[in-house]
Amino acid sequence: MKLLEGKVAIITGATRGIGKGVAEVFAKNGADIAFTYVSSDEKAKAVVANLESFGVKVKAYKFNVSDYQATEAFIADVVTEFGKIDSIVNNAGITRDGLLMRMSEENWDDVMNINLKSVFNVTKCALKTLLKQRFGSIINMSSVVGIEGNGGQSNYAASKAGVIGFSKSIAQEIGSRNIRCNAIAPGFIATEMTDNLDPEVIKGWIQDIPMKRAGTAEDVANTALFLASDLSNYVNGQVINVCGGIQT
Ligand code: NAP
Repeated sequence: MKLLEGKVAIITGATRGIGKGVAEVFAKNGADIAFTYVSSDEKAKAVVANLESFGVKVKAYKFNVSDYQATEAFIADVVTEFGKIDSIVNNAGITRDGLLMRMSEENWDDVMNINLKSVFNVTKCALKTLLKQRFGSIINMSSVVGIEGNGGQSNYAASKAGVIGFSKSIAQEIGSRNIRCNAIAPGFIATEMTDNLDPEVIKGWIQDIPMKRAGTAEDVANTALFLASDLSNYVNGQVINVCGGIQT
């Protein structure tokens, strides 16, 4: 059974990692996909070809999702090209880790703009369309770190906590219009974002995870599939952890 047949999904940051996994699972389930990226042209082409092989319509958009005007133009084009928006996965994100003592203002601003302002940009720009339609599922990528904090990631943790506060507020604002807004809090998911980490640090983390393995992009994508589908029609304003039990 295809859970997203005839639906249109927006996914930010789908050239790699979790976003790429979400796009593939959504396309396999019949959704047409508008995805964004900022620099990886070759990867974007490969993602388009892969998604099209599932028989769905796909369009890639290259722009910085922390730029409000560029986001406005993106949403306008999606509505023209695809006719509606069923789900939005605000996934694009970066890390610029470091202790506060050494954190530059630029590293703070970049993380807040790309991880949090982008969620405002896409949601705000899509709002009119969603309200007119009277349906939609917004899925925002947070992190376990946004719930419990993490030394050396104060910028990232603050941005991800912000994503949760934003998601819960939007759920309350527009739930009456049949628009749902939820957040996913992944734990340690093996992607290019985590490839740069010290292997010894990774080993230690895996020891602490009750399921004794890193998560996969597909693990997160399947949760996004649930939230985008009608199976979650009464799930609103929630944070769903996908973390192998490291946070309970
Ligand atoms: P990733 O592999 O680094 O991929 C990031 C994606 O975001 C890429 O497609 C990238 O596009 C895009 N992107 C980055 N900056 C952008 C910008 N300014 N505008 C538009 N797109 C931009 O990341 P990931 O590990 O899959 O993480 C995805 C999300 O899950 C993030 O929000 C992250 O914080 C969250 N998360 C990840 C983990 C984990 O363990 N991996 C855990 C918890 C939460 P380009 O390829 O063009 O650069």
